[in-house]
Amino acid sequence: MSRKLRVGIVGAGPAGVYAADILTKSDLPEGFDGVVVDILDRDPTPFGLIRYGVAPDHPRIKEIIKALKRVMSNESIRFFGNVNFGVDVKLDELRPFYDAVVFATGARRDRGLDIPGLDLDGSYGAADFVYWYDGHPDVSREWDFQPHAESIAVLGVGNVGLDIARILAKTADELLVTEIPDNVYEGLKKNAAKDVHVFARRGPAQVKFTPMELRELSHSPTIDVVVHPEGFEFDEGSMEAIRAAKSQKLVVDVLQNYLAKEPSGAPHRIHIHFCQNPVEILGEDGKVVGLRTEVTELDGTGNVRGTGEFKDWPVQAVYRAIGYYSDPIPDLPFDEAKGVLPNDGGHVLDPAGENIPGVYATGWIKRGPVGLIGHTKSDAAETIRMLLEDAPALSAAEQAEPEALDRYLDGRGVEYTTWEGWEKLDAHEVALGENDAHQRERKKVVERDEMVAISRA
Ligand code: NAP
Repeated sequence: MSRKLRVGIVGAGPAGVYAADILTKSDLPEGFDGVVVDILDRDPTPFGLIRYGVAPDHPRIKEIIKALKRVMSNESIRFFGNVNFGVDVKLDELRPFYDAVVFATGARRDRGLDIPGLDLDGSYGAADFVYWYDGHPDVSREWDFQPHAESIAVLGVGNVGLDIARILAKTADELLVTEIPDNVYEGLKKNAAKDVHVFARRGPAQVKFTPMELRELSHSPTIDVVVHPEGFEFDEGSMEAIRAAKSQKLVVDVLQNYLAKEPSGAPHRIHIHFCQNPVEILGEDGKVVGLRTEVTELDGTGNVRGTGEFKDWPVQAVYRAIGYYSDPIPDLPFDEAKGVLPNDGGHVLDPAGENIPGVYATGWIKRGPVGLIGHTKSDAAETIRMLLEDAPALSAAEQAEPEALDRYLDGRGVEYTTWEGWEKLDAHEVALGENDAHQRERKKVVERDEMVAISRA
């Protein structure tokens, strides 16, 4: 007799939704006549970092939501938001509802940086700032912009560093056309930044920017992009990096164009400095007053070595955008060094390196916080292929009735949200945007209670 394959996915970001999509479109092994997928998320809303990671002035990337919505409207897929895995439901409580559980929890924290001065007032992690400007319910409504902070350092030359630099260098009014909530607009008006200095510890051929995002920096009329010349003497490692990847060559070309350009006299500047390794955040009376970097030189391999020469940069705030790090998953092993669930490309592994039966990982919690959103698709395909190969041998869900999880959550008093609930909140946010004096596409609701109340109304 055949049965439905029941899969629980923890995490409703792109990784989780792509995994659900692939599951529902795959040929199932013998013995299964359909698949049922429940996606759980701690946020009351779906879409993970597209809602709470992509910068508000990147509507093009947010368009991906349209494709994810089509997936979620499949009746084999259900959404359970506002469910905190590990608190509202633990692994051994969730397992009986499913043949398999897939973790797609992403990466939400800033990677650690071990330099003095991190605790000073005015020293921030990018992830916190991103959460704030994207209106995440779990962070403070206020951002502590220092009123005197006209010069700001951003550490790291990935796309998050670019997002942070761009949001800091734009005016609040430029961002008012986006979906930012009122508290973010009011907060941004207190931002005094005029010069945003972005620091790379290596050279131009090693930056992690993507060409489109780098080009787009110059699209704001209030910003001049000033690339500083140090580090443009390419070593063999840099030449190799430029030859090896077209996108890296494009990035270097864009940087060289900026380098050759005269500033237009715009009121704000984003400076990009190469071969400066941050070694200390300097403070006075508990506040950031500068950044010390060690000048580096390329060593021929694409890496750098310190020169023993140090520079002090007078800045009043420092934002670290040096990469994200995943939260460990309760009751599962965690690879601290890589910040991932130990895995073989799909199965989560126990400390002896054996598969934990029926437990899988996909997305950033599987391979670390690198790659654009589209990359999560191939990643999910790999995980789901393994899951489907295993499916005939997996223990069948003990509680396979369709409403079993709903009953469990109701019994625990968890105020979970659903896909229909998200559609209500979505319509509400769109209406807020339409009724706004600036006729915006959407205005986000920030308070968790309010989101839950609108979704469950
Ligand atoms: P990332 O691309 O890995 O960049 C991290 C940067 O931090 C690198 O330049 C790295 O330099 C630097 N760094 C790391 N440790 C450092 C240290 N101790 N001191 C100084 N610098 C250090 O990470 P990300 O910017 O967080 O982005 C994560 C992923 O999301 C990426 O794939 C990115 O493309 C994607 N994303 C895309 C967009 C978009 O608009 N398309 C927006 C945001 C994020 P080294 O190379 O020298 O290690």
